[in-house]
Amino acid sequence: MPDKIRYIDKITEMLFPRRCPVCGDLVTPRGELICPECIGELHFISEPVCKVCGREILSEDEELCSNCKRHRFSFEYGYALMSYNDAAAHSLTRVKYAGAKEYLDYYGLMSRRLYGDRIKAMGVDAIVPIPVHKSRLKKRGYNQAAVLAYVMARELGIPVYEEALYRNKKTTALKELNAAERLKNLTSAFYAGDIPDDMHSVLIVDDIFTTGATMEAATRCLKRAGVKKIYCFSLAIKAEN
Ligand SMILES: [Zn+2]
Ligand SMILES: [Zn+2]
Repeated sequence: MPDKIRYIDKITEMLFPRRCPVCGDLVTPRGELICPECIGELHFISEPVCKVCGREILSEDEELCSNCKRHRFSFEYGYALMSYNDAAAHSLTRVKYAGAKEYLDYYGLMSRRLYGDRIKAMGVDAIVPIPVHKSRLKKRGYNQAAVLAYVMARELGIPVYEEALYRNKKTTALKELNAAERLKNLTSAFYAGDIPDDMHSVLIVDDIFTTGATMEAATRCLKRAGVKKIYCFSLAIKAEN
């Protein structure tokens, strides 16, 4: 079946040209997911990176970014695809608020291409997307983290398990809170679903890693529900400056 699905994907791409996740225009040549000249606007993460959150750091002599030196996280470690620069910020805002779900095909593909081996090496039992609240899901029509999870999982052979985590209530205006306040606000925002007994480790995926409070809250929630090891993957994370 996967080959057939890929074949249909290919035909769909030929018939319905893609919009570029960076400039928003129709992509040429057809069949590509991003304009060749727009790729350079994105900055894919490269060494040296923080050993915990995967953020780019300034010095090769350091193990951790300044954020991870200040906060202890309960997840094992995380990776991120790209720096949260202006192009990424603009693009991911369109994913969230302007229906640009198709951009996730490109980001999911790149995540798989650049991190597939490392993700497989984690040996996780499932990929768990950070959930959005039901009312937000209804309004947006999709959970961007879940869409990403499915694109990433497509060739990794790891199942997506959306039922692991749920969102209790709307969490808004997080931007105005500091890390500790965010965590307090968020810890109560998640609740675990039905976790199968043999689900020992999972990879949580999300679009943006800011302070790590969302990942930490989700991690604590899953750990309380019996998952032993949690890893993280985000599409974008701010580089240290
Ligand atoms: Zn473009
Ligand atoms: Zn870090």
